[in-house]
Amino acid sequence: MTRQPRGARSTREVPGFAGELITPGSRRYDRARRVWNAAIDRYPALIARAHDTADVVAVVRYARDQGLTLSVRGGGHSTAGLAVADGALMLDLSAMKTVHVSPPDRVAVAAPGLTWGELDAATQAHGLATTGATVSSVGVAGMTLGGGIGRLDRLVGLSCDNLIDAEVVTADGQVLTASEHPDLLWALRGGGGNLGVVTSLRYRLHPVSAAYAGFLAYPFDQAADVLRAYAQFSEQAPDRLALYAALDTAPSLPFIPEALRGQRVAGLLALCFGAADDHSERVLAALRALLPPPAVDIAGPMPYLETQRLSEGMAPAGMPHYDTGEWLRFLDDAAIDALVNAAAGSPTPQSTIVVKRMGGATARVPARETAFWYRQAAHKLNVQVEWVPGEPDGHREWVRSARRAVAHASAGGGYVNFMADDDQGRIRDNYKGNYDRLVEVKRKYDPGNLFHLNQNIAP
Ligand SMILES: Cc1cc2nc3c(=O)[nH]c(=O)nc-3n(C[C@H](O)[C@H](O)[C@H](O)COP(=O)(O)OP(=O)(O)OC[C@H]3O[C@@H](n4cnc5c(N)ncnc54)[C@H](O)[C@@H]3O)c2cc1C
Repeated sequence: MTRQPRGARSTREVPGFAGELITPGSRRYDRARRVWNAAIDRYPALIARAHDTADVVAVVRYARDQGLTLSVRGGGHSTAGLAVADGALMLDLSAMKTVHVSPPDRVAVAAPGLTWGELDAATQAHGLATTGATVSSVGVAGMTLGGGIGRLDRLVGLSCDNLIDAEVVTADGQVLTASEHPDLLWALRGGGGNLGVVTSLRYRLHPVSAAYAGFLAYPFDQAADVLRAYAQFSEQAPDRLALYAALDTAPSLPFIPEALRGQRVAGLLALCFGAADDHSERVLAALRALLPPPAVDIAGPMPYLETQRLSEGMAPAGMPHYDTGEWLRFLDDAAIDALVNAAAGSPTPQSTIVVKRMGGATARVPARETAFWYRQAAHKLNVQVEWVPGEPDGHREWVRSARRAVAHASAGGGYVNFMADDDQGRIRDNYKGNYDRLVEVKRKYDPGNLFHLNQNIAP
């Protein structure tokens, strides 16, 4: 099932474009149209794989002049499949991979096709890093534009807080330097792909090397106590601690006791950044002391790059996936019971509920300073499910009901980077107090809403 882009004279002609055009008949088409979430199976009319900014300008102008539906693909990890649409023109940035790190300035300039694994490797070669996604294949641009939560956000802020400049191709085909347009830079920091195509991102870097990492797992009948310990401990957590609690199914891995494999478990992941000193060990010991001895207790110094790979196995590509998220003000007993009940009824072994402690440097940025709003949220909640390819897509209600069950603790909205395809009705809530200003900036830079396949701010 393929369609020509509406109004296109020929899919082989994009004036000024010197990149690669991939048409439905092409050998590379099927691979190029696929995104991370296997539940998304869409057929663009044409894929334009750009090699540089001039290619991006050519595609944007072509889409606008021809009245085409345009999607933008970076790392392809939008779980809503925003990067690809049936019958649309897909601007694929994945081949734009240059990166330049300047250690004396502690700055990296990244092209939009880079993944976090690639950017982390380049910056860590100099002992530097900025907040990045916890799965290496996530695209740097899509993640940063939606905010960007990672291991380092409490220490150095969100990815978007560390975005100090960007090159942007706007809907009229102009190439702008965002720092010369403060409203544009403001909106790029959390406003998603609404303003244009970002062709280069300039990041502030920080000296980051080792962490002291602790992973503790408990049988599921202790899940409520584990969440309570997480909530209590995280109140006092130092900024250099990244703390997560997860309710999921234990994999069959050598370090998991046999009795727990394939069973629901409650886990804690604590990463203390900085030198692996006594203080880090004491932080973890204090957390451990709040609970009975865990069934799994792995702790020790770990290079930053390794901490970035810890969640890799939790999110395999090629599985159908659905998720939702919510910012929480607190995690009280009612919320804890609701999450444990939800996890007890999880529909597949790949169903996960994760809470992450927010705050620290993220909370010290005023909410109106960037388009990202929920800086005072205490926790980020994620509920996600994956199922076997070919099985019916019947698990969405479990995900939604888990979120509804903690509505009393909600800070008012969810995270734009974890918005499912049927979640577009929540956009105003997800931007809350910054929504009206985002509409103004959107009207200025994209009044015709050329960039609408995103967490769309209608102009
Ligand atoms: C396995 C997994 C792990 C994740 N981990 C994290 C995490 O740790 N922290 C976190 O905050 N989020 C995380 N996310 C969410 C992720 O940040 C968002 O899905 C993000 O949009 C992905 O960016 P992408 O470039 O890979 O996606 P794509 O699907 O390629 O792009 C998504 C959308 O972003 C916009 N976009 C992308 N590139 C550009 C560009 N250059 N210019 C303008 N707009 C652009 C477009 O609107 C596009 O449709 C994760 C998602 C997955 C699937």
